[in-house]
Amino acid sequence: MQNEKLIVVTGAGGFIGGHLVASLRAQGHGRIRAVDIKPFEEWHQRFDDVENLSLDLNRRENCDRAAKNAGDIYNLAANMGGMGFIENNKALCMLSVLINTQMLQAAVENGAKRYFFSSSACVYNGEKQKIFAAPALKEEDAYPALAEDGYGWEKLFSERMCRHFREDFGLYTRVARFHNVYGPWGTWDGGREKAPAAICRKVIAAKVSGKHEIEIWGTGVQTRSFMYIDDCIKGIDLIMNSNIEEPINLGSSEAVSVNQLVDMVEDIAAINLKRNYVLNAPNGVNGRNSDNTRIKKYLSWEPNIPLCTGLEKTYAWIYDQYMGQLSGSQESGRRAAFAY
Ligand code: NAD
Repeated sequence: MQNEKLIVVTGAGGFIGGHLVASLRAQGHGRIRAVDIKPFEEWHQRFDDVENLSLDLNRRENCDRAAKNAGDIYNLAANMGGMGFIENNKALCMLSVLINTQMLQAAVENGAKRYFFSSSACVYNGEKQKIFAAPALKEEDAYPALAEDGYGWEKLFSERMCRHFREDFGLYTRVARFHNVYGPWGTWDGGREKAPAAICRKVIAAKVSGKHEIEIWGTGVQTRSFMYIDDCIKGIDLIMNSNIEEPINLGSSEAVSVNQLVDMVEDIAAINLKRNYVLNAPNGVNGRNSDNTRIKKYLSWEPNIPLCTGLEKTYAWIYDQYMGQLSGSQESGRRAAFAY
């Protein structure tokens, strides 16, 4: 056991980090360290058989503590959320640069072997996302750089830090650009939620309240693709174990408009709602899709779980959370939020 490599996951109290820890356990890894700034009771998933640490990785000494004796590091920690959060918290988003910079330093100084960084489709040049017809973004479309202000620039800079730590210090780094990830255990209320979870929650609220209306941010014709969490976790594993040194898209290529997303959730809920469009709400770029040419070339695979399949599971999970909260049963809500 002592000889087994230690795997560190930062941001493990969050959505994707929690699933990654669950998956590493399921693969039989016996030495896992899970790190997040949040107090343990706020972690989306937490497991008693891994080493759980509540640490602020904006501080260098905590990055050293997190990276001590690490073999592999998956750095997923970031201050982030959906459009409502990142458009209104640009400085906070950019401060995540401290996490990645110091985790890279700590990785090198503590002799870690491999380092994974979760970048984002928000690194792509805004000029290439002006049309609504879901432009598929190739990896080279990140340059000339005109990333999402704040969050996207931080990710682009941190990608380059990974590259230079690989080139200058010989650290094995892998970088995936996630395109909208959704699924159970994802944030679904409170202001950091993304479109699929927000729409599921709003449709559930309309169904439960009997007020058959829904508020939609923007015109509804913006396009995006959404990747189910299981595809994301599989992709992280494949990319970490690949020879892909440059940042690569990890996203679904099944693009839909926001209106189509609402149609799908309405179908799941068996309901039709009056749509009220909030035109001055934060809604990001007009169109975005993932060009998967490169990932298919390298891995003979791309995220492939259909949106309708993933949405059904996500809707059912959010429905349970919503009803748990509504019934005022704090205790059962809390129990449901943890998977020991
Ligand atoms: P999340 O917010 O659920 O998880 C991020 C976690 O990082 C949170 O639990 C947060 O508490 C933790 N964190 C923030 N600041 C920290 C600090 N100073 N020290 C330690 N921990 C800290 O988000 P997620 O959806 O799980 O995203 C994981 C990663 O994937 C992030 O880097 C995010 O930018 C990236 N990403 C996610 C998506 C998506 O659609 N979810 C898309 C693109 C990129």
